[in-house]
Amino acid sequence: MERIVYVNGEYLPASEAKLSIFDRAVLFADAVYEVTAVIDGGFVDFAAHQQRLGRSLAALEIDFDPAGADLLAIHRELRDRNALSEGLIYLQISRGEAERDFVKPTAIPPSVVLFTQAASLVDAPAASRGLRVITRPDLRWHRRDIKTTQLLYPSLMKSEAIAAGVDDVWMLEDGTITEGSSSNAHIVLDDGSLVTRPLSQDILHGITRAAVLDYAREQGVAVHERAFTADEARAAAEAFITSATAFVTPVIEIDGEPIGSGTPGPAANRIRELYIKRSRERLTY
Ligand code: PMP
Repeated sequence: MERIVYVNGEYLPASEAKLSIFDRAVLFADAVYEVTAVIDGGFVDFAAHQQRLGRSLAALEIDFDPAGADLLAIHRELRDRNALSEGLIYLQISRGEAERDFVKPTAIPPSVVLFTQAASLVDAPAASRGLRVITRPDLRWHRRDIKTTQLLYPSLMKSEAIAAGVDDVWMLEDGTITEGSSSNAHIVLDDGSLVTRPLSQDILHGITRAAVLDYAREQGVAVHERAFTADEARAAAEAFITSATAFVTPVIEIDGEPIGSGTPGPAANRIRELYIKRSRERLTY
């Protein structure tokens, strides 16, 4: 059965779905997106993803009101039509189609695209194996808090990591780690506390990051929101990434040096279990 996708009001087989070559997403990456995890047929942190989508749209002045469109209904329809019990739903909203011009057009209808990706998120091999990362300079634009589709640099860096025989990059700016290619970066100190970069324009305000920090604090774990260096990560007891796709995934090596024992550690494993348990209790169906 071919995958059914959503484009501008229509549910279509993927092979029949079309977006104009003049769409601003194609020509300018003038688009924002969200990726929502599905487990047990339910959506993880749906409301938080919708709120961040609203902030990204407002930052770019894209004329689309997520509260007015029933995006939950579209998510449900795609989940059901594709019998998706576990995986991801990708949502992209671009400014729309217009003659190519650096001046952004006004009063054009935005383009809305959604599709599903089946994936094993809970029993992910990377979670039991742990990730090896290398550091690279963070050469992205400086509004990383807006979730745009300008993903060329992280895509090139992740590809470079894979070509180098490791799993991913952690990006560095002014001596501190900003984030992973498509995840937030965290370390665990010897005293069990978490260190994570504070929210700013330097990083995406991860929905998974926010949930994990809440759940960790509920358990009495101390959380320090401050920037950390690659040396601190090397010397940390443990490290991990968070994202809607990876949930909580341990990082076991940085630039060829093991972090802690060089295997997924108890704190990261505990936080991953806790994240999955709490997410399951709060799914949107
Ligand atoms: N940072 C970047 C650069 C990302 O691309 C992502 C995932 N899209 C994240 C962090 C994690 O965000 P979330 O937990 O909302 O998926």
